[in-house]
Amino acid sequence: MSESNFVDYVKIYTRSGKGGKGSVHFRREKYIPWGGPDGGDGGEGGSIILRGNRNHWTLLHLKYERHIFAGHGENGARRLCKGKDGEDKIIEVPVGTVVFDGETGEFITDIHRDGQEVVLLKGGRGGKGNNFFKTATNQAPKYAQPGEPSLERKVILQLKLLADVGLVGFPNAGKSTLLSVVSAAKPKIADYPFTTLEPNLGIVDVRGAHSFIMADIPGIIEGASEGKGLGLRFLRHIERNSLLLFLVPADADSIKKEYEILLGELMRYNPDLLDKQRVLAVSKSDMLDEELEKAIENELPSDIPSIFISSLTHKGIISLKDLLWKELNKQAFHDAESIIRKPMNIQTDDFEDDFDFSLEDDSRDEDDWESGENG
Ligand code: GDP
Ligand code: MG
Repeated sequence: MSESNFVDYVKIYTRSGKGGKGSVHFRREKYIPWGGPDGGDGGEGGSIILRGNRNHWTLLHLKYERHIFAGHGENGARRLCKGKDGEDKIIEVPVGTVVFDGETGEFITDIHRDGQEVVLLKGGRGGKGNNFFKTATNQAPKYAQPGEPSLERKVILQLKLLADVGLVGFPNAGKSTLLSVVSAAKPKIADYPFTTLEPNLGIVDVRGAHSFIMADIPGIIEGASEGKGLGLRFLRHIERNSLLLFLVPADADSIKKEYEILLGELMRYNPDLLDKQRVLAVSKSDMLDEELEKAIENELPSDIPSIFISSLTHKGIISLKDLLWKELNKQAFHDAESIIRKPMNIQTDDFEDDFDFSLEDDSRDEDDWESGENG
C-alpha cells in the first residue's frame, strides 16, 4: 500500500487517573489546642472517554499518540480541602469507529453518532479524608481512605465508514466523478485505475430538503475478496453502508455481466452484503445514443432498480438522488441497531512488537496506596 493519510486502524494504550488520597489532618488554631479532624477528600481520577466527532474522517490524529493517560486526582488536604479532580481524557474519533480490546480482540463498543460518548475507563474515586470518618465515638480518626487505582487497557480502534450509500464499481467506472458531481466532496479523479487510494465521502443534498452520505470506495477488482489489489482492505468499509450503488460504465462489454462479477466479489467477501439494498447506475451514458440505450435497457438485471446517468452532462443525476433517497427510506434509515456489528479479523499478536507499555510518566508513589496516610 502506498503512503496514505487514510488511517483506519490504530492501537493505543489507555489509562485512567487514580483517585487522590484522603487527608489525615487535625485542625490547629490559636487557643484551640486540639481541634477536630479536617482532612479533605482526594480528587477523582480522570476518565478515558471516547467521543464521536463527525469532523474526523480518519484516525490519523491518533496514529502517533499511542499512550493516552487521564490525569490523577490530587490528594485531599487540611481544612477540608478536596483534592483537584484529574482531567478526563477525551479521545475524539470519527463516527463509525469500532473499539476492540487490544489483547483479546473482544468487541468493546461502537461509536456511531456524532457527539456520542462512551466511558472506556472510569477514573479512580478519591479517598475520603479523616473528617468523613468522624463519629460520636471516634472524634479523632487518624485514618483516611486511599484513592482507587488507575485502570488500564490496550485498545484497537478500527474505522468503518458509516455512509448511507456506498459506491461499488471497478476502477474507472466513474465513481469519483459521480461523487464530485453529487456532493461538495472533491475526490481525486484520473483516468487510470487505482487513483483513489482513499475512500472519499460526500454529503449529497436531495432537493434542499434531505441529505445522505455517499462514500467512494477504491475500486474493487476481480479477485479482491481473495486479497488481490486494494479491494480487500477497503471492502470492510462498505459493510456498513445502508445501500450499495453499483456503477457500471456504459461502454462495458456486458453491463449485466459486470454487475454480476461485482456481486460475486461481494458475496465471497461477506454474503451479508447481499442483503443490502442495491441500485444499479449505468454511468457515462452520454456515450450512448437513444437506440443503444434502449438495447442496453432490455438487458439490465430486473431484480434491482436501475438508472442511466452521466456525470459529464448531469443526465439522470437528480433522478438518481431521488431514487437513492426513496430506496434509503424503505429501510430503517439511520437506525443504529441495523448496523452490522461483527468482530472483524483483527490481529492482536503484533501488539508487543511495536508497543511500549512502560508507565514511566508516573512520578507519584505507587506502593503506599494501601496506607493512605498523609496530612
Ligand atoms: P473511478 O475509478 O470509478 O473513480 O472513475 P473516475 O471517476 O476516476 O472516472 C474514470 C474516467 O471516466 C475519467 O477519465 C472520467 O473523466 C471519466 N468519466 C467519469 N464520468 C464520466 C461520464 O459521465 N461521462 C464520460 N464520458 N466520462 C466519464
Ligand atoms: Mg476513483
